[in-house]
Amino acid sequence: MHKVLSYLGLGSNEGDRERNLRTAIERLGQTPGIRVLRTSALRESTLVGEGPKQDPFLNGVVEIETTQSAAALLAVCKALEAAAGRALPAKKNHPRPLDLDLLLYGDLRIDTRDLVVPHPELLARVFVLEPLLELGLSEELLRERCAIERPCLLTAQSELSAKCSEWLEGGCLVGLVPTMGALHQGHASLFERARRECDRIVATIFVNPLQFGPKEDLAAYPRDLPGDLRICAAAGVDAVFAPSPGEMYGDGFCSTVAVGREAETMEGALRPGHFQGVATVVARLFALARPHRAYFGQKDAQQVAVIRRLVKDLGFPLRLVECPTVREPDGLAMSSRNVYLDAADRRAAGVISLALRTAQEAFRGGERDRDAIVRAAVAVIAAEPRAQLDYLELRSDGDLLPQPAGAVSGGRLVTAVRFGAARVVRLLDNMPLVENSESSQS
Ligand code: AMP
Repeated sequence: MHKVLSYLGLGSNEGDRERNLRTAIERLGQTPGIRVLRTSALRESTLVGEGPKQDPFLNGVVEIETTQSAAALLAVCKALEAAAGRALPAKKNHPRPLDLDLLLYGDLRIDTRDLVVPHPELLARVFVLEPLLELGLSEELLRERCAIERPCLLTAQSELSAKCSEWLEGGCLVGLVPTMGALHQGHASLFERARRECDRIVATIFVNPLQFGPKEDLAAYPRDLPGDLRICAAAGVDAVFAPSPGEMYGDGFCSTVAVGREAETMEGALRPGHFQGVATVVARLFALARPHRAYFGQKDAQQVAVIRRLVKDLGFPLRLVECPTVREPDGLAMSSRNVYLDAADRRAAGVISLALRTAQEAFRGGERDRDAIVRAAVAVIAAEPRAQLDYLELRSDGDLLPQPAGAVSGGRLVTAVRFGAARVVRLLDNMPLVENSESSQS
């Protein structure tokens, strides 16, 4: 049977530490398919990271030769931890009689829910690195083997598909965050939410030609992949998929996703074909990544309504997560296109959220007439000479379908406003009508 050279990290800071470690090594040697070759010296270390006050650890590394699979080896480690009296599931950074980590398994890379090999903290933890060096592994070789790119950058569809397959087969809950790049704190909030809820997250960065009209800003849309990768790294994104247009739509690509009434008015009317392009690329990304969850910003409320319908109609087995709009201090919704506002337009653009909040106030003050609420917001925008209103409507919340004139019990105000003369910048925003101030901004 194939024998693999593997290294396990040991630690203990509860009970008779040395005895715990020696017993674990002895039991490892008695386990079928495992031969203990060498053990490093044991050394003391203090807790790395936040945790309750506790005694120092005794640490070491053991070199083994094994015919067990990495998953089976992990199960042996867990069983030995339990046998040493460790309460499982273990509380993070709490004292423990025994900690056994699978550090290296031949030169295999493993990225599953329960097991990442080489161990991600291997180079950062002196109490692991030193014993490995003591056992004769070269630091250069370790650095080479442990050089895991996070986020890893994928450009081919096959790479995205393979990466997600690896995660899905490894039991990971996968989250997808589609974007067009030029990332800002609004996008980062989606990554952070996904990070909290999923085991692995993939951000896509693709300025999708299908969703731009012939006279729109496809060529001029801001692009900054190095900056985007930095934001993704800081937010803990695992993989970034940034394909070229040819990669996404090569080889006779001609199938598209038709969209319906959610896409007919407002952005759909002003940008014919836009939502069909959005729905097509999103369906393509869902098919490649097969995520459990997909994250979209409420800032593009009509887009969310179209995608919600798409997920329902085509039966994509995923949960759509809508995230609140992140705003600048003056209330302007963050957007990649904000960088194109000149200083005066940027100052003036605060009028959009002011208008929506004014209508919210009117609603809270008792106004229930649809047109009167809309007029209250339109008047604020009309008072700003730099702003040109494309539309401002009070729609039903969720599907954003029109509400009949007369009394309303709530809904969502949705608007698009243009700024600039030489270069026109269209900005979108929306806000719900709610009675109290809770979540009134989103
Ligand atoms: P984009 O790159 O503009 O296509 O946006 C990618 C995703 O980020 C979409 O789901 C947007 O709705 C979301 N997003 C954009 N701006 C914001 C923002 N200010 N707050 C929250 N989400 C946003």
